[in-house]
Amino acid sequence: MLLKITNANVLDGNGQLQLKDIYIRDGIIAELVDAESQGKASADKIIDAEGKLVTPGFIDMHVHLREPGYEHKETIETGSRSAAKGGFTTIACMPNTRPVIDTPETIELVKSKAEAAGLVNVLPYAAITKSELGRELTDFAALKAAGAIGFTDDGVGVQSAQMMKDAMALAQSLGMPIIAHCEDNSLVEGAPVNEGEFAKRHGLKGIPNESEAIHVGRDILLAEATGVHYHVCHVSTEQSIRLIRQAKEIGIRVTAEVCPHHLLLAETDIPGLDANWKMNPPLRSERDVEACIQALEDGTIDMIVTDHAPHSEEEKAKGMQLAPFGIVGFETAFPLLYTKFVLTGRWDLSLLVQRMTKDPARVFGLSAGKLEPGAPADLTLLDLDKEQEVDPSAFASKGRNTPFGGWKLKGWPVMTIVSGKVVWQDQ
Ligand SMILES: [Zn+2]
Repeated sequence: MLLKITNANVLDGNGQLQLKDIYIRDGIIAELVDAESQGKASADKIIDAEGKLVTPGFIDMHVHLREPGYEHKETIETGSRSAAKGGFTTIACMPNTRPVIDTPETIELVKSKAEAAGLVNVLPYAAITKSELGRELTDFAALKAAGAIGFTDDGVGVQSAQMMKDAMALAQSLGMPIIAHCEDNSLVEGAPVNEGEFAKRHGLKGIPNESEAIHVGRDILLAEATGVHYHVCHVSTEQSIRLIRQAKEIGIRVTAEVCPHHLLLAETDIPGLDANWKMNPPLRSERDVEACIQALEDGTIDMIVTDHAPHSEEEKAKGMQLAPFGIVGFETAFPLLYTKFVLTGRWDLSLLVQRMTKDPARVFGLSAGKLEPGAPADLTLLDLDKEQEVDPSAFASKGRNTPFGGWKLKGWPVMTIVSGKVVWQDQ
């Protein structure tokens, strides 16, 4: 089966747009040729990408698919569809489900559900500790053999330094990364928002920057001691960034990710006690937002992830104090960042695309994320001129929990291809 995508606007290595025809054979990119030249073979199927940007499919290394156990929030199928609609072709799902993904059987369950959905590549993480309770390590070797791609207790920080050190030593011996949700509970205890102006005004307890940065600092020292690849989840503070930057400078194996909302929103933007603005880590100060942007630009932060975290409307209606943390992210990520950073002239298009494709692939050793012969034919077609408002009621996700409803954005995905197969198309 030979698929040809004609007239594709493709970014070259220098960030310049080139007009190419892409040939895909049996799910693999076979060849890229200049659009006006004659291809070697005649295709079984042709997709005309005229006027569209074609990028490697987006990769999101931090998502919550909620299955098993919270299917009222999302399922592996609805989450995969939402990802495809957002232009993502590979996603890595967090283990804080019910039961927690902490056995080979639950890894197998996730893999088989993802395969049955047949939409995007779903890479499962396994928990560091059983049930994410922080008391006992899971069976790393068995989980790796079952297909786990790394270990994380995302949703909660590993409170014990000894437990984290043991986890890192074991992961290192298996050649696996540790992915850390950094949060010291003793500094947080029930706080729903950032420690700052908003908390003060509304009489809420605040989450201080140090609750994140203390774990980052501790874990960097433990990563240095163990030699493990240590990846910091959803960085949100200036202090964490300072520590990561310094650690990278002296050669410690640390990598990091940031979410669109931490690049776009500060706590001063929160309009009121609306839990669609409640996430963990919380929206921080404008100073922290600027530090996150600069860290992504200079490579201190390696990649963009969404931390897609769907919840039901009933759950989010419980108010700022009681509602669960998290917002959905797949279907708004690219248009948000394209509109707010590329169209404003702050970023080159190639920087944004790289941080959503090549960089996560590099950090986690994935074969995806490249548009070149031999790479998987995971591709995203984008209409950069298409403008529309974010309409949560139209999300493919079960979650409607977003602070970006009504935002008018440009740069929408129009087609998503995984292994040469169209898995989502704008109607
Ligand atoms: Zn987290």
